[in-house]
Amino acid sequence: MRQILWFRRDLRITDSAILAHARDEVLPIFIFDPHILSQLEPTDRRVGFIYRQVLRLKSELQSVGLDLAIFYDTPERVFAQLQTQGFDEILCSVDYDDYAKKRDKQIEQIMPMRRFTDSYMVDPATHLTQSHTPYKVFTPFYKSLFFLWESNQLETYPTPRHLRLIPFDDATIPSLESLGFTEQPLPDFLSLTPDELIDEFIPKLKKYHHDRDFINIDGTSKLATFLRFGLISPREVFNRIRPYTESKPFIRQLFFREFYAYLLYHFPHSEFENQKPIKVEWSQNQEHFKLWCEGQTGVPIIDAAMRHFNQTGVMHNRLRMIVASYLTKNLLIDWRWGERYFAAHLLDYDASANIASWQWAASTGSDAVPYFRVFNPYTQSQKFDKEAEFIKSVIPELRELPAKKIHTENGVQSDIFVDYPEQIVGIKASRDRAIAAFQEG
Ligand SMILES: Cc1cc2nc3c(=O)[nH]c(=O)nc-3n(C[C@H](O)[C@H](O)[C@H](O)COP(=O)(O)OP(=O)(O)OC[C@H]3O[C@@H](n4cnc5c(N)ncnc54)[C@H](O)[C@@H]3O)c2cc1C
Repeated sequence: MRQILWFRRDLRITDSAILAHARDEVLPIFIFDPHILSQLEPTDRRVGFIYRQVLRLKSELQSVGLDLAIFYDTPERVFAQLQTQGFDEILCSVDYDDYAKKRDKQIEQIMPMRRFTDSYMVDPATHLTQSHTPYKVFTPFYKSLFFLWESNQLETYPTPRHLRLIPFDDATIPSLESLGFTEQPLPDFLSLTPDELIDEFIPKLKKYHHDRDFINIDGTSKLATFLRFGLISPREVFNRIRPYTESKPFIRQLFFREFYAYLLYHFPHSEFENQKPIKVEWSQNQEHFKLWCEGQTGVPIIDAAMRHFNQTGVMHNRLRMIVASYLTKNLLIDWRWGERYFAAHLLDYDASANIASWQWAASTGSDAVPYFRVFNPYTQSQKFDKEAEFIKSVIPELRELPAKKIHTENGVQSDIFVDYPEQIVGIKASRDRAIAAFQEG
């Protein structure tokens, strides 16, 4: 048996389904795909990160007697060329977004593929309601995962050491520059390993339930980017956290991740269309969208969130909810515009979590915030950034102002010593407009 082990969003050798199912002779590969890379800016932060992780995977594979062939070409061409070398099949993990599914369909024409649900704990194809339909609402889905919760420790795959490497020409590892990218500064936490991050996070677990909402508290795990690229498996994360008595709120979030992948699997059109049968007359105001992207809306919490995001590629979950609500309700701009902007810049961008979260915020998802519950950004900043520490850290011109003024609509604009953009929309009027537009839909 000669197998290709195609690493994609599972860049690890521990708890790896494809390694565990490999037999005899194997060729582990990674493909830098120009279809994907050509969509990205040369300064995209994520490519440098993935590049380093691919090299790390190569040396980890070498430590178990294997190696990684790295290609920079279209998957179609890579497999068409490999097909001439007598391979039996490709082993890889599932990928549910639209491009990935189309790509895999094409590759299957060239060589048989065996896919494993290795990026998730639940197989969406088989995990159904009692009436054999997919879950659409989180709470019943969450309850249905009680069997996982109860199991306390999930079985993981051992790393095999008996596989034989098929020799390949390793003379041409593409450089990051030859892929068209330059190294960008990354947040410090991305230089840690997932295990080190979990060690740092465990003392915070007790207060996670409360702290995870507060913008100025470093209370979450920061594992999303690592889970996205499969540097650690969700089972491994579960096993490390589950034994702690306070683990439930965290595991619930991990199950949210499962749920969103599950939704994309069963409702693939949700990548492009409202999941709910609702028609909203969205605003086409490009200027408003530009000001939102640049953090120039005149609302300090929105502006701080977006400016920080543009500088780092990182955004706190609470801030994501606030800026998404503001864009889709106060500015009445289509969630797809915001989703695309996040997709282009988020370090932890994951199609399923991003699409479902945007549809949640826009009240267009199957299990979404009710359209009449529009976040007031000032109330949110008052509650979750009480002393305006986060806002002041990003917007230095507001540093001398009392927090109360920052959390009051038009408060910063009323200060004659501060030069700050006017609000592009009033909060109450825009909220009323949104509710009316959703009622009509
Ligand atoms: C508009 C919007 C867009 C989002 N886009 C993404 C995205 O592209 N990729 C992404 O991974 N998450 C996304 N999220 C969810 C959430 O914001 C991030 O997962 C979280 O902020 C990552 O930080 P953390 O790893 O410290 O999370 P923790 O709080 O430590 O949570 C642990 C893990 O659980 C998962 N998780 C936590 N919250 C959620 C959630 N609400 N939905 C799904 N999974 C969750 C993540 O994998 C996370 O790493 C989005 C949320 C919103 C509101």
